[in-house]
Amino acid sequence: MTDGFAETYGRAPDGVWRAPGRVNLIGEHTDYNDGFVLPFALSRGVSVAAARRDDGVIEVRSRQASTVVTAPVDGPPVVSEGWPSEHAWAAYPVGVARVLQEHGTGGASLLIDSDLPQGAGLSSSAALECATALALCDLHGVEIDRPALARLAQRAENEQVGMPCGLMDQSASLLCTAGHALMLDCRSELSSQVPFDPAAAELTLLVVDTRASHTLTGGEYGRRRAECEEAASLLGVDALRDVKDLAGALGSLRDPVLRRRVQHVVTENHRVEASVGLLRAGALSEFGAMLNASHLSLRDQFEVSWPEADVTVDVALRAGARGGRMIGGGFGGSVIVLTPAARAEKVRDAITAAYEKRAWTPPEFLDAIPSQGAHRLN
Ligand code: ADP
Ligand code: MG
Repeated sequence: MTDGFAETYGRAPDGVWRAPGRVNLIGEHTDYNDGFVLPFALSRGVSVAAARRDDGVIEVRSRQASTVVTAPVDGPPVVSEGWPSEHAWAAYPVGVARVLQEHGTGGASLLIDSDLPQGAGLSSSAALECATALALCDLHGVEIDRPALARLAQRAENEQVGMPCGLMDQSASLLCTAGHALMLDCRSELSSQVPFDPAAAELTLLVVDTRASHTLTGGEYGRRRAECEEAASLLGVDALRDVKDLAGALGSLRDPVLRRRVQHVVTENHRVEASVGLLRAGALSEFGAMLNASHLSLRDQFEVSWPEADVTVDVALRAGARGGRMIGGGFGGSVIVLTPAARAEKVRDAITAAYEKRAWTPPEFLDAIPSQGAHRLN
């Protein structure tokens, strides 16, 4: 990657920064309801080789994109500029540069490379934002603590890219540590490290990319957020996190769709808290039941699952896995499966065979090892 930089820009980079993708163990569609999430960082991520520039310009290239984009760092929100679709990917790094320049950073030349699948629910977008953000801060000598940097990266995705995401992805990428998941309270934005080391318990956490791609900007995701807001307002609470009496809340809502949404969010928050308790107690295999309950709730109450995800979970359980669930916003992306390590191969084969039988694109597997958050490589 460093070699490629010199060929492209005619000079060595000042450094290389890397930020991981993440898997959210449990707590789906809870972040924008002021609730709890429990992500951990993957060993895979996005690397950014970068050189400082002092002309107020950011130039971005990616080994995973064919276009070169050069833009001033103090422009209007990228989303308002109407960039052509082949430049859309660059809204993430340029957006970060535009948000951070208000805090004292400036221009840079970037070469991006990644071993993280895009659009697979593993948060390549936040990895790209966070690696870029760390690079710009270091290059321009700007110190921003990590929780604050996560918020700025989130702001970039919200305001610059136009994607109304919560704070989880950027927090996971910047705050996670090896051998742990991160319990994040999305209201207080306080987080704590929760031990999570499946290998030590002779378990494997598989990430299955179902190869069904998602398009989350607007659409169903925005609709779910709006439904949650509407339900909260009908229930007279600031956010669904504040619903204490679920039965009472369900009884008072007339719209069956809103009832299902509330049921999911409230029970999912309880599942995160229960999961943290199990993990702190070292009861990792009991945690599988939480994954299963989460999947059913996402499928039946929140209605964001997709056929490949349902089949993956089903087949994995029948092949001896302890639990599994869809991850990410829904309608495509990945599934996680917790299985005894000794059965991992059997589970993988069973899933592959099930896809083959249905003539679906073969799934891809990733062993997820809880890894360190964003850092400077050299
Ligand atoms: P996810 O975050 O789940 O991977 P998103 O749709 O939020 O999915 O973000 C994916 C988008 O992020 C891609 O479509 C692309 O625009 C951008 N992106 C991620 N990684 C890279 C990369 N290595 N090079 C260029 N763009 C990237
Ligand atoms: Mg994303």
